[in-house]
Amino acid sequence: MKKILFVTHAASYGGAELFLRDVVLHARSSGQEWPVIFLADGPLKTDLIDAGATAKTVSAGAQILKLKRGSNVREALSALYSIYAVVKVLAKEFRNYDVICANSQKSLFIAGLAARLARKPFVWILHDLVSDQSFSGAMRRALVFFANHMTSAVVANSYAAKDALVQCGGKADKISVVYNGFDFDTNFGDNATERDRATLLGEAGLSDLPTVGLFGRIAQWKGQHVLIEAVERVPRLQAIIVGDATYQDGSYFDQIRAMVEDRNLSHRVKFLGFRKDVQRLMATVDIVAHTSTEPEPFGRVIVEGMAQRRPVIATRGGGVGEIIDHPTNGILCEAGDSVALAEAMRAIITDDAMASRLAEAGYQKVTARFSIERSVRDLKDVFDGLSRA
Ligand code: UDP
Repeated sequence: MKKILFVTHAASYGGAELFLRDVVLHARSSGQEWPVIFLADGPLKTDLIDAGATAKTVSAGAQILKLKRGSNVREALSALYSIYAVVKVLAKEFRNYDVICANSQKSLFIAGLAARLARKPFVWILHDLVSDQSFSGAMRRALVFFANHMTSAVVANSYAAKDALVQCGGKADKISVVYNGFDFDTNFGDNATERDRATLLGEAGLSDLPTVGLFGRIAQWKGQHVLIEAVERVPRLQAIIVGDATYQDGSYFDQIRAMVEDRNLSHRVKFLGFRKDVQRLMATVDIVAHTSTEPEPFGRVIVEGMAQRRPVIATRGGGVGEIIDHPTNGILCEAGDSVALAEAMRAIITDDAMASRLAEAGYQKVTARFSIERSVRDLKDVFDGLSRA
């Protein structure tokens, strides 16, 4: 059995990190230890250790962690010395493994160099649409260079993510698609009882009226403002907005809080912050919405809503079309179209048969296609197919 080591820069919760947590824990339950090196400390590392997995930090230093998608060449060069130091430490660690797998962009660069030094096969898991406007030209070129020349294989989290990298110059024959996988047996399928629902809505300061949930980081491109505009158009519809802002998105959070106040929606729209019980909250709402204003590379929250047997309305684009077949098992709206979102929500809360049909078809689709067993198997196939660097 090949010895695999994962490297990732972030130990806080985002879709890419939760993907990593789930595959590492599932591999472990099926007898394979996939240790993780984090380049910065955070709660995900603690969760993995608490669950019995092997995880540790090799600190990349502030200069490297400050690098962003939009960073220019000068900023990248100023991080060079720290990169050299951490690359040397990592290369030493890598000697004990057969395959090194980077789960983020920063770890692509740093672990990619270290894997080259240690002469180990190197895999990058791509969780982004590299074509997206938020990447600077220099960063896009660097990603494509590393993907083409420093990896043995690239794993994209959707065909949309694969196609975007290919359009920027990535080599298609190096890229496999492995979807995010979910443990449907243990984490989903709880139908909240009426009492649970009343309790959770009561805790949020809401009454027992139809409720939509929006789950994910609070960030402009996640489009929480689109949901607020849509909720305003549907009388008696309530909303919970679940998730937190990262430091740089704090002002957007302030804006949408003010938007709710200004429109007199405070009694109908509640912000619950970051929650670890997303599945439980999804089970209490009547609709799960996804409102990203940019194409989503994959969209875990969409699968989670469908797995929880909730009708899901999502933004068309990116990897979302690989999850939802509109209008069979979910509804797609154009990005930013709060009028269409309001209409779709109104239709679902007034037509129980439609809501149940969407929920059931959504459940069937995601349980057949996005299991954690399949993701771990597909990843293992990629690792097993590699020869020595
Ligand atoms: N999530 C969470 N708590 C929150 C908000 C979101 O655990 O308060 C989880 C959510 O359940 C999902 C992930 O964060 O698994 C977000 O992944 P997604 O692919 O939707 O978006 P990304 O963060 O990758 O942009």
